[in-house]
Amino acid sequence: ADEDVATIQILMSDTGGGHRASANALRDAFNVLHETEPDRFPLKIHCDIVDIYTDYGPFFPYNQYVALYKIMAEYSFLWKWFYEFGSTPLGLWLNENALELSCFEPFQDCLTRNPFDSSKNDKRADMVVSVHPLCQDLPLKILSSLDSNGASRSEGRVTPFVTVVTDLGGAHPTWFNEGVDKCFVPSDVLKKAAMDRQVKENQIVQYGLPIRRGFWRFGADYTGSPEEQDEATEMEGVHHKPTIRESLGLKDMTTVLIVGGGDGMGGIIAQAQAVGEKLQSLAASTNENYQMVVVCGNNKAAQTTLSPPQTNWGADIEVNVQGFVNNMDEYMRASDILITKAGPGTIAEASICGLPCILSSFLPGQEEGNVPYVEENGFGCYRGSVDGMAETVQEWLASPSKLEQMRDNALVAARPDATLDIARDLADMVYVRKEELKKGGGANSKKETQTKTK
Ligand code: UDP
Repeated sequence: ADEDVATIQILMSDTGGGHRASANALRDAFNVLHETEPDRFPLKIHCDIVDIYTDYGPFFPYNQYVALYKIMAEYSFLWKWFYEFGSTPLGLWLNENALELSCFEPFQDCLTRNPFDSSKNDKRADMVVSVHPLCQDLPLKILSSLDSNGASRSEGRVTPFVTVVTDLGGAHPTWFNEGVDKCFVPSDVLKKAAMDRQVKENQIVQYGLPIRRGFWRFGADYTGSPEEQDEATEMEGVHHKPTIRESLGLKDMTTVLIVGGGDGMGGIIAQAQAVGEKLQSLAASTNENYQMVVVCGNNKAAQTTLSPPQTNWGADIEVNVQGFVNNMDEYMRASDILITKAGPGTIAEASICGLPCILSSFLPGQEEGNVPYVEENGFGCYRGSVDGMAETVQEWLASPSKLEQMRDNALVAARPDATLDIARDLADMVYVRKEELKKGGGANSKKETQTKTK
């Protein structure tokens, strides 16, 4: 029965791969907590994850954000303009008001939908979590108007609303709204950004980024208490590089991993060619063996171009070309150096795997801050040219002690417990709300949900 399940609606949009990945990670974390810590988390939590713009945006541009993001990520000057203008007081005001005029009613339909059956609006979620920068202002307004039965727009909200920021070293101002119950941020820089936007210190919680289960401290096989698991992990050596390499069909040798974005952006062909040539000449002039793994993401053209017969890598180095992989944690744990665009998820994942990074590009705005994040934490650098990347690979390979130091630095910055920590706090909040609702203090009833405010 519904009584035995708490429900959380997670608002996101598929602009880039990171938001849905974070939403899924939180959903998985709730399930794991319910299984492994049943005394503290006796109630199952059901997540209703929704791309609110694609599914409820009434017209262009709102229902085309995903396609627009892809175009703008390719032509980053467009993105830069859009991002920077959107951060100005005028841009923020325009966005907020246009959004409210266009989307209030459709978004209200989204926020009042039944978490188990989206075609019905008879019972809404017990709590709302946003993992997207454009899902704060209007959803908060809508919840306030629903919960106070139309009496007020800014007060009276009883449904808990939480933001979980999925950017790392920089974030757009729209991420932060002082009206939220809690705002989870992954870094000091974003804590400050939140406070600059009037979010108070006692609303802010800092654990790290929510990321996929394979990157949690105990990997995908977490089944016991942290103590038991710790011992088991040590005994089995689950992160043993040679074993992981073997399971992936890779050779057991020094490995450079090149990753395109979730969408395969970022000039990956030229990068692989430059780094491949450098590794070939290094292998020919030393007695070392080198391997390069290229993960092209959804970039099929790059995958074809870099694979035989189109490219012959010769006998000096091992090259393995993949499309989109679902086991990035294993590929990262098998590698020694990562070349990637400055995506927040990828950087946090690399850090957990102790993998030094060469950042090949960044989206102006929200990814710009990820460069100093990596540099200041001492586990990598930015190289804008493919020759620069290849040089840096050579330099790092020539200095094992430097590589080791960067590996240690990455592990210090890593937050492998963040996802479960965030999920524990969210679960506590939704349980409190569930108790309130049981005692009849709720506004989630059919009658009030169906009351529309204009
Ligand atoms: N990724 C993956 N398989 C691939 C390529 C990428 O699972 O073949 C994942 C990567 O591990 C990361 C995400 O895609 O979790 C990309 O997220 P990020 O925040 O780095 O960039 P975004 O795509 O959101 O801009």
